[in-house]
Amino acid sequence: MSTLEIRDLQVSVKLPDGELKPILNGVDLTVKAGETHAIMGPNGSGKSTLAYSIAGHPKYEITGGSVTLDGADVLELSVDERARAGLFLAMQYPVEVPGVSVANFLRTAKTAIDGEAPKLRTWAGELRGAMEKLEMDPSFAQRNVNEGFSGGEKKRHEIMQLELLKPKVAILDETDSGLDIDALRIVSEGVNRVRATGQTGFLLITHYTRILRYIKPDFVHVFVGGKIVEEGGPELGEQLEAEGYDKYKVRA
Ligand code: ADP
Ligand code: MG
Ligand code: MG
Repeated sequence: MSTLEIRDLQVSVKLPDGELKPILNGVDLTVKAGETHAIMGPNGSGKSTLAYSIAGHPKYEITGGSVTLDGADVLELSVDERARAGLFLAMQYPVEVPGVSVANFLRTAKTAIDGEAPKLRTWAGELRGAMEKLEMDPSFAQRNVNEGFSGGEKKRHEIMQLELLKPKVAILDETDSGLDIDALRIVSEGVNRVRATGQTGFLLITHYTRILRYIKPDFVHVFVGGKIVEEGGPELGEQLEAEGYDKYKVRA
């Protein structure tokens, strides 16, 4: 069983003039395989900074604290090594990969993570199965990654990656933003399928409570001013839906 441990994480963003602007002010969080944690907070509170820092984005400088996966220091690893160690980040703004088809992209990613190429015979079926479950046309596999993808197609592609790559910890940053209700349902069902395996821990980052109607978190963490200010169970999500973040902003 895998465990991601974030201890007193402090992160600054590197501004163009070289100055460091502190964003995360001591984040503590433990995510175990099979658990789903919702991180909820207002815009600008540092939620994406937390996701990018764990993923190893070069714009963010770790100034204190630690992140470990099953005891191994994640912050020492390159971005590729983090993916191979079993960390998965679905970006809030996914990038285009010109000239690389979805099928090739997924096969390359799978090969990198498993350390060997997936068996040709079973792989095609796995790919097709993942696409069927997400109600995607088979022709999607031949399209270039994120090129001209609609918002819904980008999110489905992320969930395909999740289903095929089977990460130890998946960080989904605002996966719900910009989805219509059908796409939200399909994407949520995909997350719930992976969740049901009990092999993946989820960090579900969101500004809105809407997705929590489809994916019931085990834990809810309220994130304001670069740190967690309150923690609870699913009932805390319901309370946020009714009351918003105002009371935390006053305190922050
Ligand atoms: P959230 O995802 O919660 O909306 P972010 O992590 O995107 O928050 O941003 C947190 C804070 O860090 C914001 O005040 C934002 O303006 C600032 N920030 C993030 N990236 C940069 C950057 N590259 N340059 C300057 N400020 C940044
Ligand atoms: Mg934001
Ligand atoms: Mg964000």
